[in-house]
Amino acid sequence: MFHLLLATCLANDPSICAERLLPSAESPSVEECHRKAEPIARDWLARHPDLRGGAARCVETAGLPALNMQEVADGVFFYQGAMEQISPGNRGRIANLAFVVGDTVAVIDAGGTRAEGEALYAAIRSVTDKPVSHLILTHMHPDHILGAEVFAEAGASIVADARLSDAVARRTDAWMMSIPDQIGQAAFMGSRIAPVDQKVDAPMTISLGSTELRLEPVKSAHTDNDLTVFDSESETLFTGDLIFRGLTPSLDGSLSNWIDWVDGTGPDPAPSLIVPGHGPVAATWDEAVAPERQYLHALRDATRKAVTGGMALSRAIPAIVSMMKPYSEGWADFNATTARNAATSFSQLEWE
Ligand SMILES: [Zn+2]
Repeated sequence: MFHLLLATCLANDPSICAERLLPSAESPSVEECHRKAEPIARDWLARHPDLRGGAARCVETAGLPALNMQEVADGVFFYQGAMEQISPGNRGRIANLAFVVGDTVAVIDAGGTRAEGEALYAAIRSVTDKPVSHLILTHMHPDHILGAEVFAEAGASIVADARLSDAVARRTDAWMMSIPDQIGQAAFMGSRIAPVDQKVDAPMTISLGSTELRLEPVKSAHTDNDLTVFDSESETLFTGDLIFRGLTPSLDGSLSNWIDWVDGTGPDPAPSLIVPGHGPVAATWDEAVAPERQYLHALRDATRKAVTGGMALSRAIPAIVSMMKPYSEGWADFNATTARNAATSFSQLEWE
C-alpha cells in the first residue's frame, strides 16, 4: 500500500510545520497515489483553513511513523499510553488505544491528536490491508477522541454513546485553546473533532464478520457518556476510562454510579482479558478494578467526612487530598487529580 503525506504549516505561524497522512489517497501503486494526491490534498486543505499545504509525497506503509503496538490476544492490538497527564514530552499520547481485526477492522479510541490517530492508522496498515469499518469512542475525553477524523477520512463509521456529541460540543472551544499550549502547537496540528455517525443509546452488536463487538452504554460514571466494548472471539473487554490502572482515576461523571460499577462482579461471562483506558491490560476483573475500587471508596469516605464536618469547599479540597494520602501509592499524578476529584465529589455528595 502507498500513502499520501502532505507537508503542512500553521497558517498563522509558518515556522510550525508537520506532515499529515491523508488516508483517502491510499493506493496499491505509487502512480495511483500520485494521481489522487492533488485533488485530495486540495479538498483536505479547504477543510483545514488553519493550515497551509506544501509538497506531497507517496510512501509505503513501512515509511509511515506508526505506534508501537502489541498483539495482546488473537487479532487484538493494544497501545499503552504514557501513564501521566498530557505534556510536550508525551505529545498528548496518554490514552490506551486498540484495534480488533475481523473481516474488517474496528478501532477502539483514536488518540489525543490528529498525529496520534495517523500513527494508529499506520500501525493498523502494518498488520492488515482490510478496510477500517468502525471507530468506537469509549467516551468524550480529548486524549481518546482527537485522532478520530483520520478514521472518518479512511471510511470508518464513528460510533459513540448517544450523549457524547453534546458533551464534546460544550467543551470543544476550551480544548482547542488549552491543548496546543499543553502539548505544543506542532504536536496538535490538524487536530479536530469528528462528528459521530452512529449514536448508541442501548446495548448493540457490531459484526466484523469473523467476530462481533458488543457495545454497552453505562450509566454516568467516569463521564456521562461511557461505553464498554466486548470482543466475542477473543473475549476481550475494553472499558475505556471506567478503569484506570497506574494513572489516578479522574472523576467527570457520577462518583456513586462509578462505585456501583466497580463494586459489581463485572461482565458475565468473565472476560479473558481486560483493556483499561489507562495502564496495563489485566487478566481478571479483580486485578483490573481492585486498586480503583479502593481509591473511589476512599474518595467517597473522605468527602463524606468533609461534608459532615461542615467544611467549605476551599478547605475541603486540601482536607480530602490529605485524608486520601494513605491511598496514594501506585497512582501517578495523585495530588493534582485528587484535588480536582475532591471538588467534583464534594459538590455531588453535598446534596446526598
Ligand atoms: Zn477519560
